[in-house]
Amino acid sequence: MIRQNLHTHSNFDDGKNTMEEMVLSALSAGLTSIGFSVHTPMPYDDGWDWAIAPEKLPAYMAEAQRLKEQYRGKIAVYCGAEWEMLSNIPLDEFDYVIGSLHYISINGLDYSVDAESYETARCLKEAFGGDAEAAAEVYFSKYADLAKCKEVDIVGHFDLLTKFDEKEHFYDAESPRFIAAAVEAMDALIAKDKIFEINTGAIARGYRTTPYPSLTLLRELFKRGGRITLSSDSHSVDTVAFKLNESAQLAFDCGFREYWQFDGSAFTPKPIEGA
Ligand SMILES: [Zn+2]
Ligand SMILES: [Zn+2]
Repeated sequence: MIRQNLHTHSNFDDGKNTMEEMVLSALSAGLTSIGFSVHTPMPYDDGWDWAIAPEKLPAYMAEAQRLKEQYRGKIAVYCGAEWEMLSNIPLDEFDYVIGSLHYISINGLDYSVDAESYETARCLKEAFGGDAEAAAEVYFSKYADLAKCKEVDIVGHFDLLTKFDEKEHFYDAESPRFIAAAVEAMDALIAKDKIFEINTGAIARGYRTTPYPSLTLLRELFKRGGRITLSSDSHSVDTVAFKLNESAQLAFDCGFREYWQFDGSAFTPKPIEGA
């Protein structure tokens, strides 16, 4: 059984619940540790209002510290960040960092791939003349840049750009060009020991039926010796441990026999036991 989730949000960013409510939910779900991964402040107002305001960061850190102490012996609480690559803040104060990209940046514009599907449609039409594979190449080459950031421990939702694809099919995620772009980024990230999360957040929110990354990319990751962690990218108390064990089974079926768990200072391997 998976007993850790390092990818959770609270009402300090776009989550629905307080950090303490999330901790209590994690406890009742049988987790032995929970990490908060606040969306780091955006350098400008992008109109989506989802990241923490910079002036609230000290209160976030303080509340994580309070919960750490209050629940010591019951559940470990970690103070992490989900660092959006467009965000420009120091990362060394966090216990761990998930590096994520929520935009395709081109021609001086940042198109969200996470907010609404019409943004993806607009991006592909306006910036790429409908060439979705070219958009994927831009997206994944930016993801590869996470390899250069030593503070980043975990690669967040690696193929988030396909969020709306089950319903609207913007990308051909099985095409050789799409996979080549993804795998090139994957290799750069593996070379710098980044851990990939299997993220069930879009399943919980009804966008997808499978986690990020896709099965094809997970198999590529396994072949290349990549490391994994399991997360639910939870934004509310009802999804704190959402499908973590199912993800572990999926990973097992792809060949993985271990996942990497954070212990407060380092990541250590834990066995995955398939059904
Ligand atoms: Zn994210
Ligand atoms: Zn997240």
